[in-house]
Amino acid sequence: MSTLSVFGAQWGDEGKGKIIDLLARDADIVVRCQGGANAGHTVVVGEQRFVLHHLPSGILHPGTVNVVGNGVAVDPLVLFDEIDGLAERGVSVTSDSLRVAAGAHVIFEHHKRIDRYAERWRGVGRIGTTGRGIGPCYADKAARTGLRVADLVEPVRFEERIRAALAEKNALFEKVYGEEAMAPGEVFDRYAAIAQRLAPFVADTGEEVRSAYKEGKRILFEGAQGAMLDLDHGTYPFVTSSNTGIASIGSGGGFPPTKLERVQGIAKAYCTRVGEGPFPSEDSGALGECLRDRGNEYGATTGRPRRCGWIDLVALRFALELNGATGWVMTNLDVLSGFDGIPVCTGYDYPSRGDREPSVYPGHLAGLDGVSPVLETRPGWSEDITGVRHFKDLPQAARDYVHWIEEKVGVPIELLSVGPERDQVIFLRTALEAAT
Ligand code: GDP
Repeated sequence: MSTLSVFGAQWGDEGKGKIIDLLARDADIVVRCQGGANAGHTVVVGEQRFVLHHLPSGILHPGTVNVVGNGVAVDPLVLFDEIDGLAERGVSVTSDSLRVAAGAHVIFEHHKRIDRYAERWRGVGRIGTTGRGIGPCYADKAARTGLRVADLVEPVRFEERIRAALAEKNALFEKVYGEEAMAPGEVFDRYAAIAQRLAPFVADTGEEVRSAYKEGKRILFEGAQGAMLDLDHGTYPFVTSSNTGIASIGSGGGFPPTKLERVQGIAKAYCTRVGEGPFPSEDSGALGECLRDRGNEYGATTGRPRRCGWIDLVALRFALELNGATGWVMTNLDVLSGFDGIPVCTGYDYPSRGDREPSVYPGHLAGLDGVSPVLETRPGWSEDITGVRHFKDLPQAARDYVHWIEEKVGVPIELLSVGPERDQVIFLRTALEAAT
C-alpha cells in the first residue's frame, strides 16, 4: 500500500472503523478529510471496545501519524475528551501521533445550539442531524464567517473573531429562535483554555502529507459517513454536510486524488440507515427487526436504532462508480447466518411512473419518490461463520451469495468481515496482501 482511500459505500455505519483499524497497521499516516465528531467508528481490540468520533482510527497503532485534515470540522472539546479518554485506557496521543490542520474550521457551542434550534424550527421537515454543530460550522465556512484552528490558537485574533461571530449569532438566537444570547467573554475563556492544549498539534497538514508521499510513506485516507450521505451526490437534503467520498481528499486533505493508487468502498452484506430520508431496500417488518437484533444495529454515537434492510445493488454500484473504487469490502456477513432466504435489492420499481429502471440510481431525491425495491431472494445458510478465516471454509450458500453479489456489482470484493474483532476477516484478493 502506498496510497489507499477507504470510504463508506452505503449510508454510513458500514464497519469502516474496524477495517480502517486493520489497514492502519500497515500505514505510516492515517488522514481524515471530512466530517466532524459524528463518525462513531467502533474498533474492538481484544476485550476493549473503542468508539472514535473525532480521531483517525490509526490512533490505536503506536508509531502511526494521524492527521485531522483541513476539511474536518474540529470540535476541540470533543477532541480532547476523546484524547483524555484514550489516555485513561493506556493510549497516549502526542504531537507526534496527531496533527491537526491549521485550516480546519472549528465547531463552537453556538454551532451546536444552531443545530438544535434549527431542527426544532423545521419540525416535521427536520433532517435528523446528530446535533453536534457540524452542519452550522460548514455553513459558516461557506459563508466565510467561520473560525479556523489557526484563529483559535492565536488569542488576540481569536477574541476579535469570536466576538464578531457571536454578535451575529446572538441576534439569531434572540430574534429568531427566542433563546438567550451567549456571553462572548465566557465563550472566549472556555475555548482559550483548550486552544492552549491544541496548539502543539497544529500544522500545515496538507504539506506534511504531500511530503510524506514524496518520501514513499504509506498513506491511508479514512472516510467518515457514507457515499449515499454525500452532500452533493447523496439523498439530499437527508445527507451529511460534507463530501464523503474521494473528492474530499483533495479539498479536505490537501492531497491530489490523482495520486491515489487504490480506492476501497466498504459496505455491509445488508444495509442500514440512521435518521430520516429515503432507503429503498428498507425492511420495516420482522426480518428487518431480526437484522437489527443480530447485527446490534444501534448507533455508536447516539444509541438510536438503525433502520435495517437488504443490500441495495443499485445504490452500491452508484457509490463505487462515483468514487472510482478499485475494490470493496463486504462487512457483517456473519449477521446473515440463520436467514432461510436473503433478499437482495437488484433494481427499483417506479409504480407511479409505470416504469422500471433496474440498474440506474436516480441521483436526486425526487427520483426516489414512491420507489419500491425489486428484490431477489438468495439462498441462506444456518452455520455460524464468525470463526471462518478462509473463503473455502464458508458454507456453499455464503460463498454463492458473495460471488453472486460481486458479479452483479462488477467491482472485486477484496475482504470479507465476519465479526467485529480485528482478526475476524477473510482476505480474498491480492490487493490486500500488504495488510495480511
Ligand atoms: P463505522 O461508522 O462505519 O465505523 O461503523 P460502526 O462502527 O458504527 O458500526 C459497525 C458496528 O459493527 C460496530 O459495532 C462494529 O464493531 C461492528 N462490526 C464491524 N464489522 C463487523 C462484522 O463483520 N460483523 C459484525 N457482526 N459486526 C461488525
